[in-house]
Amino acid sequence: MGDTNSEDKKKTAREIIENYNGPKVRIMEVCGTHTHEIFRLGIRKLLPGQVELISGPGCPVCVTPVSFIDEAIYLALEKGVTICTFGDLVRVPGTKMSLAGAREQGAKIRIVYSPADAEKYAKEHPDEQVTFLSVGFETTTPAGCLSVKAAKEDGLDNYSLLVANKTMPQAYEALKGSADVFLYPGHVNAITGTRLCEALTEEGVSGVVAGFTARELMTALAVALVKFQEGKPFFVNCYPRVVTQDGSKEAQELVDEMMEACDSEWRGLGMIPASGLQLRPEWKNFDARIKYQVPKMEGKPNPACRCGDVLQGKCKPSDCKVFGKGCTPQHPIGACMVSGEGACSAYYQYS
Ligand code: SF4
Repeated sequence: MGDTNSEDKKKTAREIIENYNGPKVRIMEVCGTHTHEIFRLGIRKLLPGQVELISGPGCPVCVTPVSFIDEAIYLALEKGVTICTFGDLVRVPGTKMSLAGAREQGAKIRIVYSPADAEKYAKEHPDEQVTFLSVGFETTTPAGCLSVKAAKEDGLDNYSLLVANKTMPQAYEALKGSADVFLYPGHVNAITGTRLCEALTEEGVSGVVAGFTARELMTALAVALVKFQEGKPFFVNCYPRVVTQDGSKEAQELVDEMMEACDSEWRGLGMIPASGLQLRPEWKNFDARIKYQVPKMEGKPNPACRCGDVLQGKCKPSDCKVFGKGCTPQHPIGACMVSGEGACSAYYQYS
């Protein structure tokens, strides 16, 4: 269990967590799947009062800004484009309506399980213009790139991406100081490697990479608590069966070949320089914003919604006045209640 003292090595992760009596510590679950799994597995119930778990910005649907939904609706309703998307995005409110609302007005919205499905749909429907809504972090970006490569190989001129992919490192920088320890998302680190997280310790940022099983999550939390008491910034990879220091070179090279960094707006965190990705100029025929000259959208969230604060760990979902009342999974007001990885959805389901 990392570089812990000999007494801690004899204890189980559960014993370390339950018996923690060190200083108050705020641990941020960067990843929405971690938030859900920690709730689902009942791990929160083991935590003593001085350990606070807060949710972070690791749910891709949640951090995608309202303006992106507005852009997709513009493509669907004004340009007649068939939108292919993961199901979660369909019910995320835009400024005036969601994609589900646009569908009621005649928009063609198709739910797909991968960008490859969207490309296949475009190939099978040459009479339709098809755009895939490409959101997500380092884990999902390569699949979007592969779909564009496939479209080129298939000679398609009716397929494009509306890109809002983001990269996590800049978010960690932006969130510095909002938590004492980050629970880094193992699947993202599997692609990126661990070098950046290791380097962040020099800036005083501590964190542990966590996997997704009960044992992996408990181990990561226990290591975080033990290391936190040592009083120095630390990094421990608690998911070594999947995560290496270098990550996936193949995925990194594919994304680097096809995409370049750009400034990107995050719900709650605002515009973060160089935290997003866009297709490189040589792939511009597959960039929906260029292809359809999508105008800049302002994107106004519902003023009652505190998703922005939730995503920065500034408040808990239950602190939002409309949580569980006006805002439920059946009638979501904000993205964090829609997404299967959203913190509000997790709190609603389990707390
Ligand atoms: Fe937004 Fe609903 Fe969460 Fe409140 S409960 S922050 S309105 S998603």
